[in-house]
Amino acid sequence: KAGTKKETHKANFEIDLPDAKDGQVVTRFPPEPSGYLHIGHAKAALLNQYFAKAYHGKLIIRFDDTNPSKEKVEFQDSILEDLELLGIKGDKITYSSNYFNEMYDLAVKMIKEGKAYCDDTPLEQMRAERMDGIKSARRDRTVEENLRVFTEEMKNGTEEGLKNCLRAKIDYSALNKTLRDPVIYRCNLTPHHRTGSEWKMYPTYDFCVPIVDAIEGVTHALRTIEYRDRNVQYEWILQALNLRKVHVWDFARVNFIRTLLSKRKLQWFVDKQYVSNWDDPRFPTVRGIRRRGMSVEGLRNFVISQGPSKNIINLDWNIIWSANKKVIDPIAPRHTALAEDHLVHVKLSKGPEKEFSEDRPKHKKNPDVGTKKVYFSSDLLLEQEDAKAIADGEEVTFMDWGNVICDKVIKEDGLVKEIQATLHLDGDFRKTSKKLTWLAADKFVHVDLVDFDHLITKDKLDEGDNFEDFLTPKTEFHTKAIADVNVKDLKVGDVIQFERKGYFRLDSTDNGLVFFTVPDGKSVNKYGAK
Ligand code: ATP
Ligand code: MG
Ligand code: MG
Repeated sequence: KAGTKKETHKANFEIDLPDAKDGQVVTRFPPEPSGYLHIGHAKAALLNQYFAKAYHGKLIIRFDDTNPSKEKVEFQDSILEDLELLGIKGDKITYSSNYFNEMYDLAVKMIKEGKAYCDDTPLEQMRAERMDGIKSARRDRTVEENLRVFTEEMKNGTEEGLKNCLRAKIDYSALNKTLRDPVIYRCNLTPHHRTGSEWKMYPTYDFCVPIVDAIEGVTHALRTIEYRDRNVQYEWILQALNLRKVHVWDFARVNFIRTLLSKRKLQWFVDKQYVSNWDDPRFPTVRGIRRRGMSVEGLRNFVISQGPSKNIINLDWNIIWSANKKVIDPIAPRHTALAEDHLVHVKLSKGPEKEFSEDRPKHKKNPDVGTKKVYFSSDLLLEQEDAKAIADGEEVTFMDWGNVICDKVIKEDGLVKEIQATLHLDGDFRKTSKKLTWLAADKFVHVDLVDFDHLITKDKLDEGDNFEDFLTPKTEFHTKAIADVNVKDLKVGDVIQFERKGYFRLDSTDNGLVFFTVPDGKSVNKYGAK
């Protein structure tokens, strides 16, 4: 077919949208401003951008703001910032609330054509009737009565209005339950963050999305697969209102083990103060994983490599952290940190008489990373765990320096108290089995190393599981440590490697230097509570 050729980006997938014409495709990413952007949203946003670019079309960022009870300016602003961070820029930013007048007019039109009715059946009963395919007692109200209730009572949020909702008159006994006269407008007196108290009723998601897609010229609406049952309903609304056709194209949600990706549930953790906020490093929000040390490039690479799979997947976090490691490893400066608990002094003979320093590369394979000062002295420190493993007389290598013969390992109550050693710079580091990290005994800074566990204990929650029953009791782990003095020059947000410990991101300097462990795709479940 002419005009459907699209350029391949670096994605490893090549999928054609139906009826896509080069230069004419319009996609949209429609977040509800009811929480912070999470990694699932990032996937949806990047996919929409991918298709818009691949077909030289347009991407709309649309705030789907039709439920004032959940939505806030704070969320809206943070979503825009996070999208920008991911390099996602819509050709325009729109709001469902821009179309409240149009949607109101279309609802009135539907009523006039006998395609919608007002219903004041109590909520529970209405739910049960929908479940059982039972006709509502209000289904045969006259057009006049429906118009009165909708345009006078519901619109003004009167007592009678508040009891009613507007339902599309489709098929109350349809096999596909989404067609059983879905609610398309409901009252809500909470002020809207953009339209204030102008409206007392709001279109539902089901009514709003097809209409705004059609009005905005969206050609391909990407939706996650759990909406598949609703596709016929979407089409019904477009047809009932005589609106332009939109292709609905579905893709799989991304899920992660031991992770909740629902804004409502994440809000619960924030409200209950299980986490500090939406940017908590245990959160799957874009901000949370950024704080945990995820690079923008790693995140983008990950999403693109996933492609628009149609199977719902429950991913292991190792996959995304491995993608991140590929990005950070070649550029993360190397530093030294030692766990502070029971540090061991190594007293060197034939060592330097006076402490001195020399420059050493921060990254052995990447000179661009620069140099750091390494301090040498005859009084050194080792971690207790390393010291314990050394035998009397063993020759070991002190990294960035040379070999040391540990003449005598002095122990007391099962702990090493001190090591008496001889510097042996002529020794061959290829012949030692231990390459140890060490620090000069009076040249270090105190640091706090923090690791985290997942918030929930079960890999995949089943239908009917209540997440509150699967909370991990302890999810934050602190290790007091000392580190080389060069880390004082780091800035919050810098990602480094503490040799032999792993990657860390400096999270704050307000109360001493606090580093968060960056998972490397291998040791994520170190503290796994299972
Ligand atoms: P939440 O349950 O977190 O509120 P949502 O789907 O209701 O999720 P929206 O803000 O309405 O949140 O979603 C915006 C877009 O992101 C939608 O197109 C939605 O399908 C998509 N999306 C949300 N979660 C995921 C996910 N886990 N994987 C892929 N896409 C997702
Ligand atoms: Mg939603
Ligand atoms: Mg949801």
